[in-house]
Amino acid sequence: MSSSPSRIRVAIIGGGLAGAALLRGLLRYPHISVHMYESRPAFREEGPGLAFTTSTQSMLAAIDPELERCLDRAGAVQTSFEIRTASGPHTGQKIEVNGLGARSKKIVSRQAFLTEMLNGVPPRMMHPGARIASVMNLSPEQGLLLIFEDGSQKKYDIVVGADGTHGFTRQLVFGDDEYLVRPHSTGFWSLPIKVPLRRAQQAMGSRYIDPRNPRQIGWVGDGTGMIHNLLDNGTEVEIVVYGNMDDIVEEDGFSGPSWAKLFTPDEFQDMFASNQLPVCQGMVDLIQSVYTVQVAAICQLEHAPAPTYVTENICLVGDSAHSMLPFQGASVGIAIEEALILSTLLGRLPSRAAIPAALQAYDRVCRPRAELATRSSAETGFLVTGRGPGVGLDADLLRRELRHKWDFLLDVDIDAHRATANLIMDQLLGAEAWPL
Ligand SMILES: Cc1cc2nc3c(=O)[nH]c(=O)nc-3n(C[C@H](O)[C@H](O)[C@H](O)COP(=O)(O)OP(=O)(O)OC[C@H]3O[C@@H](n4cnc5c(N)ncnc54)[C@H](O)[C@@H]3O)c2cc1C
Repeated sequence: MSSSPSRIRVAIIGGGLAGAALLRGLLRYPHISVHMYESRPAFREEGPGLAFTTSTQSMLAAIDPELERCLDRAGAVQTSFEIRTASGPHTGQKIEVNGLGARSKKIVSRQAFLTEMLNGVPPRMMHPGARIASVMNLSPEQGLLLIFEDGSQKKYDIVVGADGTHGFTRQLVFGDDEYLVRPHSTGFWSLPIKVPLRRAQQAMGSRYIDPRNPRQIGWVGDGTGMIHNLLDNGTEVEIVVYGNMDDIVEEDGFSGPSWAKLFTPDEFQDMFASNQLPVCQGMVDLIQSVYTVQVAAICQLEHAPAPTYVTENICLVGDSAHSMLPFQGASVGIAIEEALILSTLLGRLPSRAAIPAALQAYDRVCRPRAELATRSSAETGFLVTGRGPGVGLDADLLRRELRHKWDFLLDVDIDAHRATANLIMDQLLGAEAWPL
């Protein structure tokens, strides 16, 4: 890795969506030398598809106009969004959500999108199969030493932790404070599957699954939520079901909270017994056709609110900063915001001495947004699984509670946030000039 000594050296640990978006944002700045390290042998993103609202699409374009086109190349489906009750006295009723109606999102397979994002990035900047074992802070002049699992070492000026929910970089910021470092069980679980369009239509009917009118529909059940949408240019249907374990306390394992919640097929079916609509029963049947012996759901974890996402030369982005519940699809939108703000600030760095000011500005603008999203996602989780306190499955009350729930994501004025971040950085730097 040869880089001019005057260039600011940035290492991104983790090659998921957050790391990849930041990498794309930093590429355009000639005074920055950036490298992204991924422990797995290839860049992979697993799990259900991702929804990009129109505001998140604009942020992608602001990071790099090519990124917005990556969505289409990855087979994103332009989709309307609606929520309906699946159980209770108002079964089938539609719950309007402000700003999330016709053609409001693009939903894309995360692996296809990540692949497109990384296409065209110079291979010398991407390092799959490189696990970082630790990071040592040398001195303000010398920077940080990355120590790889194979013992090799490299020096950087800034380390960005993009290593996800279970990554180690939170320790670099929070030290031994286990409460802040480790993610916690939330009591929610989820289970995604993907099936070909024709098979989904056979099981669920075609009223709600129509490639001529792509819709993402969330069904609010009695302690459960179900969601379905088209993916991969409309050739596949993705189904994700969620549940809330009420008062069941998850036992934490030796190395942290449990990852999986297991159900017998009968237990699973019972949970959805009150969702009598054929479309919902079709989803249960499809999941049981995949999981015939035991239904294995993923436990949803979240991090405790953090007092900061940064040190003087280390910062956290994406899930390593704030794992949150997926009910608003906020994680990726917030990670893209962070990539945009952080790359803007690092792009303005006049010298190494200004790094702490840039990271502080990032923290002050991005952390409150992420913590708001975390709280809002948790509240939404209870509402869309029919467990909102005093709300339950009452369609009118659900309308009242959910109508403005997405406003903070949809109405974001990203130019104002960027301007505020720049201002904070300038104020922290004072009027001094910082030569490279
Ligand atoms: C069931 C489910 C549903 C979801 N639904 C949605 C949704 O609808 N909308 C939404 O916005 N979000 C959703 N999310 C959340 C979303 O998946 C995450 O926010 C997003 O994928 C996180 O990206 P990331 O880059 O921060 O982390 P990750 O994708 O976890 O990437 C971290 C990377 O770091 C690598 N790594 C770890 N340690 C090291 C190391 N020591 N050295 C080098 N590399 C390392 C890992 O291998 C991994 O590739 C959902 C999540 C789940 C589980």
